[in-house]
Amino acid sequence: MKTWIKNIDIITSDTSNMVIKNASILIHDDRIEQIIQSSDEGKDVQADRVVDGKGKLAIPGLINAHTHTPMTILRNVANDLALEEWLFENIFPLEAKFSAEDVYWGSMLGIAEMIQSGTTSFADMYYFVDQTAHAVEQSGIRANLSFSAYSFTFENGAPVFKDNTKGFEAFFSEYQGAFDHRLNVSVLIHSPYIYDMKTMTESAQVAKDLGSGIHIHLLETDTERKNTFEKYGESAAFACERAGVFDVPCIAAHCVHLNEEDMNVLKRHDVHIAHNPTSNLKLGSGIAKIPQMQSKNLNIALGTDGTASNNNLNMFEEMNLASLIHKGHQQNPLLVTAEEAFVMATHNGAKALGIGHQTGQIKEGYLADIVLLDVEKVHHVPYYNPVSSVVYAGQSSDVSFVMIHGKVVYEKGEFLTIDVEKTKSKVKEIVRRLGR
Ligand SMILES: [Zn+2]
Repeated sequence: MKTWIKNIDIITSDTSNMVIKNASILIHDDRIEQIIQSSDEGKDVQADRVVDGKGKLAIPGLINAHTHTPMTILRNVANDLALEEWLFENIFPLEAKFSAEDVYWGSMLGIAEMIQSGTTSFADMYYFVDQTAHAVEQSGIRANLSFSAYSFTFENGAPVFKDNTKGFEAFFSEYQGAFDHRLNVSVLIHSPYIYDMKTMTESAQVAKDLGSGIHIHLLETDTERKNTFEKYGESAAFACERAGVFDVPCIAAHCVHLNEEDMNVLKRHDVHIAHNPTSNLKLGSGIAKIPQMQSKNLNIALGTDGTASNNNLNMFEEMNLASLIHKGHQQNPLLVTAEEAFVMATHNGAKALGIGHQTGQIKEGYLADIVLLDVEKVHHVPYYNPVSSVVYAGQSSDVSFVMIHGKVVYEKGEFLTIDVEKTKSKVKEIVRRLGR
């Protein structure tokens, strides 16, 4: 199958050649075969389908490097609370009532929201993970799903762990590289504040033994920093290093309360940072020192976190906030440029998910994960610099076409792989059952 997208402006997310105007993209099956830099040269292209890109802008699919997709079920349920009260008194008790099927429908709703807003890959952290895997299979999206080698429940406020390494091994062997390599699997370590040295060390060992990555929350709040320092006698970043968490490719979400030594630890192991500006602001967690981490050459990706703390999965908002908050916070408009924020949401996200050599850029030979934006909308006129227009003026509703792995999954407001009406009504049914 060959698809030819012609008459199109492209943001490649390759900083050596960021914008290509008036070009065409030839897609062969799941790959970008050729980028023809002038639309005239492409006149003889033979394709099964021709998409006219006039008035559109092609960008690499956005990559959400930290979320909890099934939490769409809890969207808007508890707001304006500090993380500890929000999580332990509101979120965990409701999540304990979820069935496997609930997680399937919550995942599907979240995936629909991501596709509709131009996200083509995501890194997830949840449970009943096989249900999210089925939703990934059916929807056509790309994902990295993390799965606990040590699951936990709470008794009298303290976590009780269950060795689930056999469960992880079974999940890994079934799903790693599944669905034509659209799915990868990582070890989930919730956080140094819930886990302890033993469960972190043993979880890290499972990742090392099987060759998987790790997805963890790290130093999200100041309270967490104080509590984990008491618990481990050192910073949580050092505790993770000692446990071997950073010996494999690792996504560390939040990293709001890192000091310089913590950043050096993360850089030593090339840990990927998932910056979640909306969630950090909404939960009053603080503002991560992103410019300082950038100066240390850490890989910064962007995430939405779950919909219970955001309250959406819209990566356009994360790009916009990531480019604004550091300028305001440090009174320096030169910080986090539009181009840097865009690269965080695309190329850096792909690197964090371990697929940076295959997606996150529009490049010959890369996977065809391509989003077209309608730049004829009034807020894009005139657009001079397409990257600034996307980051500072762009809206998720600009998304008019989404291709993942060479397959069109969303076009002109229609989902081609998801029954979105059924999905919405199933989630509403779950909410009624939860009694909220
Ligand atoms: Zn999270």
